[in-house]
Amino acid sequence: MGKLIDLTGKAFGRLRVLERDGQYRSPNSPESMDTVWRCLCDPELGGCGNTSWVLGSNLRAGKVRSCGCLRADMMRERAKARKTRQEHETV
Ligand SMILES: [Zn+2]
Repeated sequence: MGKLIDLTGKAFGRLRVLERDGQYRSPNSPESMDTVWRCLCDPELGGCGNTSWVLGSNLRAGKVRSCGCLRADMMRERAKARKTRQEHETV
């Protein structure tokens, strides 16, 4: 614990890590600190250009891979697929 892992410049999904932006202390476990990273939802990686603040542990675990637009895109795709199926069933 306590060793800083530098993620600057690394890519996680659509996110490109820009810089370290402070520390986050969990209200549930105050002794465990995490690093907050400012990330760009990089258009070169398929992102939307938004800036997002993400915890290092979430980045490394692959839990966060975009500013949120990735999930929105997936929901839209799923809704589209469902709609197409319904249209087929009613025909
Ligand atoms: Zn995005």
